[in-house]
Amino acid sequence: MKRIDVIREVADKARDSDALLIANIGIPCKELYSVSDMPNNFYMLGSMGLASSIGLGLALSRPERNVITIDGDGSILMNMGTLATIASQAPQNYLLVIVDNGAYGSTGNQPTATLNHVNLEEVAQGAGNRDVFEVDSLQRLHTILGEKDSGIIVAKAQPGNEDVPVIQMIPEAILSRFMAESSRASRSV
Ligand SMILES: [Mg+2]
Repeated sequence: MKRIDVIREVADKARDSDALLIANIGIPCKELYSVSDMPNNFYMLGSMGLASSIGLGLALSRPERNVITIDGDGSILMNMGTLATIASQAPQNYLLVIVDNGAYGSTGNQPTATLNHVNLEEVAQGAGNRDVFEVDSLQRLHTILGEKDSGIIVAKAQPGNEDVPVIQMIPEAILSRFMAESSRASRSV
């Protein structure tokens, strides 16, 4: 399973459920932009490791909206405490999808510690998260996404990046568009 395929599935769910969608720094943002650019998307720039924390804060501050974060194994390893914080808050409107490809994709696919040593599903569970699912196929991912609006999904993916264009928005435009979108009432409730 390729990362962009995971992103496409998650973007479909976000669109169908009117969820706010936070994307991890770097090429995942560009891949999301290429498959599904919409006002619900926040393309996180410049804060490696903090996509899952931004999503958690958003979910807590906007409990009437569903929030989804697409994060990566490298970023979760960088900010592993986020898994404990998410477990301690456990908002029912927050779903974290970790694309675990065993690589720091945006910097040249150097291997991460999940390649041979760290099991993020077990780490998430050990941090106290109850709904944690590891998936290694698009079919299984699709099924879980259809059932869950909260919890953590660890999607095992191949390393590698799609050749996608840069995001044609300046950071201020990304922010202002997303703030307007995240401030309105949900259409799904
Ligand atoms: Mg990665």
